[in-house]
Amino acid sequence: MKRILLIYTGGTIGMKRDSETGVLKPFDFNQITDEVPELNELGHIIDNVSFDPIIDSSDVRPDLWVDLCRLIETRYSEYDGFVVLHGTDTMAYSASALSFMLENLEKPVIFTGSQLPIGVLRTDGRDNLLSSVEIAAAQDADGHAIVPEVCIYFENCLYRGNRTTKNNAEDFNAFVSANCPPLAQVGIHIKYNRQQIIYPRQWGKPLSTNTDLDTRVAILKIFPGMSSEYVEAILGMGNLKAVVLETYGSGNSMTDPGFLDAVSNFTQSGGIVLNVTQCQAGSVDMGAYANGAALGRAGAVSGYDITTESALTKLFILLGRFSDMNKVRQYLSVNMCGEISK
Ligand code: ASP
Repeated sequence: MKRILLIYTGGTIGMKRDSETGVLKPFDFNQITDEVPELNELGHIIDNVSFDPIIDSSDVRPDLWVDLCRLIETRYSEYDGFVVLHGTDTMAYSASALSFMLENLEKPVIFTGSQLPIGVLRTDGRDNLLSSVEIAAAQDADGHAIVPEVCIYFENCLYRGNRTTKNNAEDFNAFVSANCPPLAQVGIHIKYNRQQIIYPRQWGKPLSTNTDLDTRVAILKIFPGMSSEYVEAILGMGNLKAVVLETYGSGNSMTDPGFLDAVSNFTQSGGIVLNVTQCQAGSVDMGAYANGAALGRAGAVSGYDITTESALTKLFILLGRFSDMNKVRQYLSVNMCGEISK
């Protein structure tokens, strides 16, 4: 029998309609098997723990990632896998953060949620939950996890967490992983894409956790007509250490001197400008166009094909770990846990 820990942080999945008022409200998560009795039929030992308070994931802050990380660390030896129930709105941020925070991970940590509450008839939550538990429990004959990664499971697909973005507010198929194929697809069978799954070079290393996060990071999305004052106001914010700059296409931006000077002043004073693309798919290549090259000369570094969610949380971790900004810059081009195709 496999042991799985369900961790409920909040979100739509844990809600049901109040029979008196008709309003959706969270149910007592200890009663999860009343809502999904099929959990008892999977043949695993499933324990659950609920965050207090449970939150809409729009309220997620890095503290929650630290709490999640510590909880997984404390219960790591007791369980074969972990399923984190989380609102969809910021699930991609949380899964990205945890992928960087849990080092030497050898067990599945599967985030899932739903678009419709588990307590309504047409819910997608039941399937998402049951398949996530199956994936969290899946092991090879040698007892090693089939997917020893932080993932998001949604609507029949298992994605690497740090490659995923929420791209649909209505469809059951709410997430996309445009630059990395699914790690598994679920139909009659669960088909694992073993070529894509990252396995430890050597099994048996102890889990280590990175819980020092430095959040002095901003996200700046460029747009036609963006004024230099706007850019200067953001880059001039006291204490800012890095900015995720969302540029056009393969990493291009405007070349007006006001903009490029602001970037250049920021990077010359030690700040990091991480160039990521506004496009959902594809990679930054600052050598492709003169406009991208100008940004490179102003000191921006390439984010390759990283998602914004992953770029932000990778910076939080790296800035928390290194005071030497050159080290941070260096690690931004290292594929730490599958977040870039490099
Ligand atoms: N606002 C909700 C949340 O992210 C939506 C959801 O659960 O899907 O917590």
